[in-house]
Amino acid sequence: MAIIGGGVVGLSIAYHLLKRQKTLRVVVLEREPMVGTVETARATGGIRHQFGTEVNIRLTQLSIPFFQHMEEETGVSSGFVPHGYLFVTASAERVQAYQANVALQRRLGVDVRLLTPDEIGAAYPWMRNDDLVGGTLCMQDGSADPYSVVQGLYRGVRTLGGEVLTQEEVTEIAREKGRITGVRTPNETVAAPVVVSAAGPYTTRVAALVSVDIPVKAERRQVVVAVPLPEIPEDIPFSIDGDTGWYVHMAGKSAMLLGGTDKTGPPDPTVDWSVVEDNLQKGVQRVPAMERVQVMRAYAGLRSTSPDYQAIVGPVPEVPGFYVAAGFSGHGFMHGPAAGQVMAEMILDGRATSVDAAPLSPTRFREGRTQGEAVIF
Ligand SMILES: Cc1cc2nc3c(=O)[nH]c(=O)nc-3n(C[C@H](O)[C@H](O)[C@H](O)COP(=O)(O)OP(=O)(O)OC[C@H]3O[C@@H](n4cnc5c(N)ncnc54)[C@H](O)[C@@H]3O)c2cc1C
Repeated sequence: MAIIGGGVVGLSIAYHLLKRQKTLRVVVLEREPMVGTVETARATGGIRHQFGTEVNIRLTQLSIPFFQHMEEETGVSSGFVPHGYLFVTASAERVQAYQANVALQRRLGVDVRLLTPDEIGAAYPWMRNDDLVGGTLCMQDGSADPYSVVQGLYRGVRTLGGEVLTQEEVTEIAREKGRITGVRTPNETVAAPVVVSAAGPYTTRVAALVSVDIPVKAERRQVVVAVPLPEIPEDIPFSIDGDTGWYVHMAGKSAMLLGGTDKTGPPDPTVDWSVVEDNLQKGVQRVPAMERVQVMRAYAGLRSTSPDYQAIVGPVPEVPGFYVAAGFSGHGFMHGPAAGQVMAEMILDGRATSVDAAPLSPTRFREGRTQGEAVIF
């Protein structure tokens, strides 16, 4: 099996394939000198159950045990901390959407609840609550460390006998009589009956090698790194103003990560300081102490999104042996472990058994079967 891309998704697929069947030859090909340095390196590490679609909730439920037990499996801790996620809104309409989401999440066994503005004010006095209509809180949500997760998966793949080739850009996908036979880079030829594209923001380019259109867009997404404020404790939930998308996520004692207001952007990962300015203004609207925030730096990455903001995971029927796992729409770090397990099932068993993967099918767009994710930030 050849896997194109050594980000969290490609490494997780390799790891889960080998965990299921140690005798497989699994080769990960990564264009960059190191694994995990493209979209995965920019992730802020957030992991949540609070989604509006069943498949996204189930992918999180499948991923969390991996984050919790990664150290036992690979020798590297994921750094998972269940500090919770808090969404708040000043919109009556959005509260209705939250109520529907909470009902779905609770039906699937998630311990999540609605909060009143008074409860939000009492628990989080640093947040303005006089205009709020409500919010939601799930203390099973949290975050882990993307660098550590990549290291754990890499170590796991290598321990199980997988090969990880860096500085190897796949420039050709070989086929015979329509069926996949392997991949080529300028230096290597790898024979493989199955090729998985896990190329993150570069998915359309890789899919074009087999003349397939996979609708993944790469959009700029920025994060502001600021000095913590004394009013905002280190152990707060990942807190999101659902109306603007603005979030604050504490990175331990040393930094506060701010972002979420740039929902779309050009495919250019260089910082736009007008986006930073807009983000800080939206922050002050929700957290008055943000008036005194000291920005240390900002960074930008490319976020790969699909048209319905859900991942595209599965076989591409017109090219037997070609699979894709991409378009995670800002959820690929948290759903990376589950995506690896689901893809291993698809390849080895012919179908996913741990979740109903129909909503992730690469063919759903042309078949008009999309669900849409209600809460995007
Ligand atoms: C600013 C930001 C914050 C985010 N925060 C979160 C978060 O809090 N929680 C969350 O779950 N997600 C978050 N995400 C999303 C998450 O980072 C991604 O969904 C996830 O990292 C996708 O992983 P990947 O392996 O698909 O992509 P990548 O990490 O980009 O891996 C793809 C790899 O494929 C390689 N590649 C491409 N083409 C080729 C080729 N032809 N040959 C060989 N190699 C190739 C690339 O070099 C790359 O290393 C965030 C994203 C951004 C940008």
